[in-house]
Amino acid sequence: MIQSGQIERPRAVLVVDDQEINRDIMGAILADHYEILYAENGQEALEVMREHLDELSVLLLDLMMPVMNGFEVLARIREDPELSRIPVIVLTAEKEAELRALQAGAADFISKPFDEMEVILARISRIIELSEDRKLISAAEHDALTGLYSRNFFVEYINRLFRYHPEFQMDAVALNIEQFHSINALHGRAFGDQVLQVLGGEIRAFLSGTDGIAGRIEGDRFGIFCVRQPDYPALHERFQRKLEEQFPGVNIRLRMGIGPWAEHTDPVLLADRARFASKLARGNFQTPVRIYDEEMHSRELLNQRLMNDLNRAMEEKQLTVFYQPKYDILSDPPRLSSAEALVRWRHPELGMIPPGVFIPLFESNGLIGMLDSFVWNEAASQIAIWRERYGFSLPVSVNLSRSDVYDPLLVDRLVRLIRDNGLNYRDLKLEVTESACTDNARTVLDVIHRLRETGFEIEMDDFGSGYSSLNMLSDMPIDVLKMDMKFIRNIVTSETDQRLVALILDIARYLQVKVVAEGVETEEQLNILRDGGCNLVQGYFFSRPLPPEEFEKLIERHIRQERTETP
Ligand code: C2E
Ligand code: MG
Ligand code: MG
Repeated sequence: MIQSGQIERPRAVLVVDDQEINRDIMGAILADHYEILYAENGQEALEVMREHLDELSVLLLDLMMPVMNGFEVLARIREDPELSRIPVIVLTAEKEAELRALQAGAADFISKPFDEMEVILARISRIIELSEDRKLISAAEHDALTGLYSRNFFVEYINRLFRYHPEFQMDAVALNIEQFHSINALHGRAFGDQVLQVLGGEIRAFLSGTDGIAGRIEGDRFGIFCVRQPDYPALHERFQRKLEEQFPGVNIRLRMGIGPWAEHTDPVLLADRARFASKLARGNFQTPVRIYDEEMHSRELLNQRLMNDLNRAMEEKQLTVFYQPKYDILSDPPRLSSAEALVRWRHPELGMIPPGVFIPLFESNGLIGMLDSFVWNEAASQIAIWRERYGFSLPVSVNLSRSDVYDPLLVDRLVRLIRDNGLNYRDLKLEVTESACTDNARTVLDVIHRLRETGFEIEMDDFGSGYSSLNMLSDMPIDVLKMDMKFIRNIVTSETDQRLVALILDIARYLQVKVVAEGVETEEQLNILRDGGCNLVQGYFFSRPLPPEEFEKLIERHIRQERTETP
């Protein structure tokens, strides 16, 4: 078997000695094992080192030499981070000089006159091995992009720091870049890397002025432990400003969570709290800094509880599906056109829990797939029941989460659902949020293409809430845009919002897709939308989401209405 060492080129050793005889002896000892370079004094040694930095494995250094002696070489090496990666073994005849040389940074010594060849070779090879191990460790220790600690070392060092220096009382800080995937998607990975580098550099600069350590945990997640700062928003501002200076005109936003030091509390727990706080700051540009507090603590306990209760909730039908109608407002009077399935949780002890509480939680821990399947099943069998009862299909749309889109079995699962319930693809529409679309544009595009080829209609949910670019939108094969509710809320009073809505309607016309306006609560809102050419409206103005029995009244009214129109 070929070992990796055998196919690499031989390691190089630099022998520095002013005496030719010594150089020759050493050369003879090493000849079979190493490539050898020579220098006659310290000055020359430094030059050769700089020239062969990458090949050199070790320096054998005489101490007494003209021009520049060995101690001075050691001192120069020590000052130079490049040179100091190469270990030095001193060659000396004086016992007393050995200790001084070690103190000056030498890794080992070999006594003159040279005797047993095996001993010399063994020493040299051991030093080379040690230094190569150290280089490997140091490479793993640091994240290549930012120079901060890599995850495992960060955790290890912070544990040690807490064990051996409890007096520091450090807070955990979690720092993230909002929608980093979108930055990568819009500007390219190389740009994303630059952003991480600049942020990493600024974190290092911060830590050069205060006690603490920092690591890049993964992707855009940074972890810092530092002695309590008087003003965390100011620290956030510092990092934010740096990015604005370096990348003017690019919208990069940071969020920050703090896990404050607490007596007898494990640093990993503090880091979890910081992360939790940072998650709560997600998407909240007004308060991008959150400090973990009592309220968050109870929130975490609640999350824990909801996670534990999910299975039982599905079994015991605490989870149910409500339906909210969408009306076609271009016909007069408005006509029931379809519905959206929205999950509800009636918890036996906690009462009615809105999906805004548990959906993001289950999205973050992977349980959402299970919940979504449950909702899709319910919706599909409901469509079948209604078709059976009323003699026509009322299309229902269901929500897809980000992780559903990445499920390789998604298309199969949905196809099976359609078959098992005897439906048509058109009966079940799929709502994908805008943010899931920008995530990893390529993958998402492929999935959406496949779903549409199969026959499903795709609605882009919450359009305008995130960062989608027009560019992306024109590639995205969608059938319907669902305008985010925030545009509708102030549409009557805000001219800006009116203009934005008009713009979105224009874009939709250009792309030849329909628009659903969500969150329509008043007649005035409705009129503005109708005048602007919006096709479909969903909102409290028509109806809140309803349990199936109540929704049936809307269907029945719809049937009566159709009858009177077509006598
Ligand atoms: P969404 O998909 O954008 O759903 C629309 C939300 O707007 C619903 O909130 C609905 O009740 C609410 N809404 C409708 N009309 C009005 C109105 O006129 N005024 C106001 N203020 N709100 C209105 P809901 O049911 O609380 O759901 C919130 C979000 O949770 C949904 O937003 C959706 O993203 C998610 N969600 C709900 N059910 C599911 C599900 O089964 N799976 C997944 N993955 N997500 C779901
Ligand atoms: Mg939706
Ligand atoms: Mg929506």
